Amino acid sequence: MNTEDIIIKDSDLVFTVITPVYNEAESLPHFHEQLLKVINKLGIKYEWIIVDDHSNDSTNKIIKSIAEKNIHIHGIRLAKNYGSHIAISAGLHLANGDSAIVMAADLQDPPGVIPELIEKWRHGKQIVWAVRSLRRRETPVTKGTSRLYYWLMRKVVKIKDLHLTGADFFLIDRKVIDAFKLFKESNLSIFLLLTWMGFKQDNIFYIKQARQYGESGWTLRKKIKLVVDSITSFSHFPIRTMTYIGFIIAFGGLIYAMIIIYNALLGDPAPGWSSLLNWQDMGPRTIMVVLLVLGGFQMIMLGVLGEYIWRNLDESRRRPLYLIEENIGSDYSGKSEK
Ligand code: UDP
Ligand code: MG
Repeated sequence: MNTEDIIIKDSDLVFTVITPVYNEAESLPHFHEQLLKVINKLGIKYEWIIVDDHSNDSTNKIIKSIAEKNIHIHGIRLAKNYGSHIAISAGLHLANGDSAIVMAADLQDPPGVIPELIEKWRHGKQIVWAVRSLRRRETPVTKGTSRLYYWLMRKVVKIKDLHLTGADFFLIDRKVIDAFKLFKESNLSIFLLLTWMGFKQDNIFYIKQARQYGESGWTLRKKIKLVVDSITSFSHFPIRTMTYIGFIIAFGGLIYAMIIIYNALLGDPAPGWSSLLNWQDMGPRTIMVVLLVLGGFQMIMLGVLGEYIWRNLDESRRRPLYLIEENIGSDYSGKSEK
């Protein structure tokens, strides 16, 4: 489809664009320019909510200067760095539009794709994913781990409708925004939750560009947290696996005990018994190996249990998902929580 040809004539519809930003001072002015170019060309009514995820560069100043000149642009600054998924949630809670388009500010997701998202929505789709068909200038390790993550989510966590290569931005309908607002979870992947929620979903494909300015705010720690959140939010697979492993080891131990008893009854008791390879002087060493392996297993299992229990505690405290430090731009505070 030639996206140049798409012009929206439904003049009463309002589109909310939501952009989480963390230290995007370099990218934001370029993104602002490109986004408005696309929006103006489409001739749509819009509001743009920029969520400053507690940047420590001049991002906040830039948001202020942009919002000052345009009543359709609003900013909120979160009280600390929560990560982009919470920042997106904050934007969705404030969205007033008939649909919301969520996209990053780093121009890896080109605003030129917006018309295609809107077109699908106008044909009745309620969640439209912009799926990466190609990633420019990314290392094989990044590509590989990303593939592994999506495979894991589809096959193990069983979010079967999740796209193969991942989607970084999307459009959702008002109904989905309202449904999303019912969820109060803080440890979650917003992409998985939306996929899991159902509704009429569809994909479009785009080429993910290389980051031109600044650096990715996704540290290894944030990535690990996202993986664990993604699994624990939707799956009891790790807990089940622990049970299975426990059964297998216990069953193995039982068989081994029976062999030893059987040998003892036949007059061949195992000397200083119980290790798997009990010949010559190997006994004490193998006992040590078995002890360490089993001890390690048990600690991993405790850790996995702990991840679930900690999340349970975290959710049960019912702390607010995020705190807003500042509202930026035209009278916006009154409009929240439609
Ligand atoms: N981001 C955020 N909070 C963070 C990290 C990132 O709001 O703690 C924003 C970031 O500024 C960008 C979007 O989320 O607009 C996507 O992040 P990034 O480009 O770092 O992710 P990647 O493209 O590497 O997946
Ligand atoms: Mg990016």
